[in-house]
Amino acid sequence: MKTPKCDKCSKKASITLEYGPHHYCEVHFTKFFDNRVKKTIRKYNLFKPGEKLLVAVSGGKDSLVVLHLIHKYYSQSNEIEVLIIDEGVAGYRNKAIKVAKDKCLQKKIKYKVIYFEKEFGVTNDEIMPLLKQNPKLGGTCAFCGTMRRNIMNKYAKKVKADKLITGHNLDDEVQSFVMNVFNNDFSRLIRTGARAGIIEHTGFVKRIKPLYETPEKEIIAYCAFNDIEHYSQECCPYSWSAKRNEFREMLNNFENRFPGTLFSVLRFNEKLKDNLKVSANQKKEFSKRLKECSKCSEPTEKTFCNTCELIIKLKDEKKKTKKTKPKVVTKKYNKKLTCATTKYNK
Ligand code: SF4
Ligand SMILES: [Zn+2]
Ligand SMILES: [Zn+2]
Repeated sequence: MKTPKCDKCSKKASITLEYGPHHYCEVHFTKFFDNRVKKTIRKYNLFKPGEKLLVAVSGGKDSLVVLHLIHKYYSQSNEIEVLIIDEGVAGYRNKAIKVAKDKCLQKKIKYKVIYFEKEFGVTNDEIMPLLKQNPKLGGTCAFCGTMRRNIMNKYAKKVKADKLITGHNLDDEVQSFVMNVFNNDFSRLIRTGARAGIIEHTGFVKRIKPLYETPEKEIIAYCAFNDIEHYSQECCPYSWSAKRNEFREMLNNFENRFPGTLFSVLRFNEKLKDNLKVSANQKKEFSKRLKECSKCSEPTEKTFCNTCELIIKLKDEKKKTKKTKPKVVTKKYNKKLTCATTKYNK
């Protein structure tokens, strides 16, 4: 088949975006991509000039692309700092963290690495065998995600950041929406969005997602066209156990057969949330119910926050077992992974 021409110039297209369809050369794809992210920031009022931005960077494509764009367009108007979290996954995390640190050094951006082990006294490698032993406790990703959010919020408050930026993309957001529907988890559903959470409270730093309207496949192409180095050799070895993978596969199948499905689901979610807008009174009521966690002082409605509850459960589980040696990650896990890939001409 003949390669189509770029919609904006006479060059051969390097990528076709089926939902348009749009055909772009590398330069015009980059412009289209950058403009969409800038538009998302304006449309959802994600941050203002002068606000301090803390970017959570893992070393993967999404967080490095968001850091690249925030630095490219907003380093003059906003103070930027990076937070890197080491969850303790031997043979995987250290490689990704090196890429993240190198990027910060290259761009002269201040960064801080926080370790699960130092913060909670437990690593993901130690959590996994405990969860295998007692699956009722939940999945590794549920633990890891809650603990990461706890670190992000605490550190953002510590450095007085106004906003906390994450690399969540369109695919992540749509997967979360569909998962919440399947799990009948309404309270989690209304907390999703480009500005995560429904209440404004001094105990929570607003988490924002500039890649909210950006498909994952385009992030991969953007990295290739713009030489953005990122860690992509392996996915996290525990991601194979995530239910999210099943949703990713299902939604990718739909998107391939019916281009535009992901955007459709995102818009539906937005309309739904607009019609369900939580009233100012409800938000006030919710804020009033919040108190400080007795262990870590994070805001919670209960005696202990979700993270501290999980850590208590893990410690109880650990007591039941003989001392478990941290498991070293083996290649065996990686066979089951479904890391995203995309097609482009480079
Ligand atoms: S895949 Fe799961 S366990 Fe691995 S880093 Fe992500 S949330 Fe944590
Ligand atoms: Zn062009
Ligand atoms: Zn706590």
